[in-house]
Amino acid sequence: MSETTPAGRLPVELRAEALEQLLTERGLVDPVVMDELVQTYETSVGPMNGAKVVARAWTDPEYRRRLLADGTAAIAELGFTGPGGEHIVVVENTPRRHNVIVCTLCSCYPWPVLGLPPSWYKDPAYRARVVREPRAVLAEMGLELPAETEIVVRDSTSEVRWLVLPQRPHGTENLPEEQLAQLVTRDAMIGVAKVPPP
Ligand code: FE
Repeated sequence: MSETTPAGRLPVELRAEALEQLLTERGLVDPVVMDELVQTYETSVGPMNGAKVVARAWTDPEYRRRLLADGTAAIAELGFTGPGGEHIVVVENTPRRHNVIVCTLCSCYPWPVLGLPPSWYKDPAYRARVVREPRAVLAEMGLELPAETEIVVRDSTSEVRWLVLPQRPHGTENLPEEQLAQLVTRDAMIGVAKVPPP
């Protein structure tokens, strides 16, 4: 799952730049709009949004119930909407059942709550293997699950995008919502890690 560049190919940044230049020259994209889009995903849309959703669910049982019943609507309550967030389904991880997310076809991902996907999420090896041998892939990524924990792989598409509500770690009973949000990681909301205790 490393960020390698296949032999003989330019780094992705250079390829993206060349593509943007070409599209701009042909009048197909506006560089100002492109810059705004990149800025948005760098500063205001990312896993910090999902972390706020998770922390709210951990501290407000009624919100948690709404979140699991209708993820899109409950996430919109906190102001997180937009492309890639039209239909988000939230699944809860428990000691008995662990959910992990993939897009086997490409890289569908709940942008309003997680931002843009990490490169390993788009890696063909992750996409193929996590379906066939999720327990082994998770172990390689540092998450060893007990044999009695059932693993459910959720395949995101452009129609339905998944978000994991991770388990609240022990020792956080007295933490306020804002501090809980700071513990929640991107990987825990994809389901390839647990939220570490403080
Ligand atoms: Fe996809």
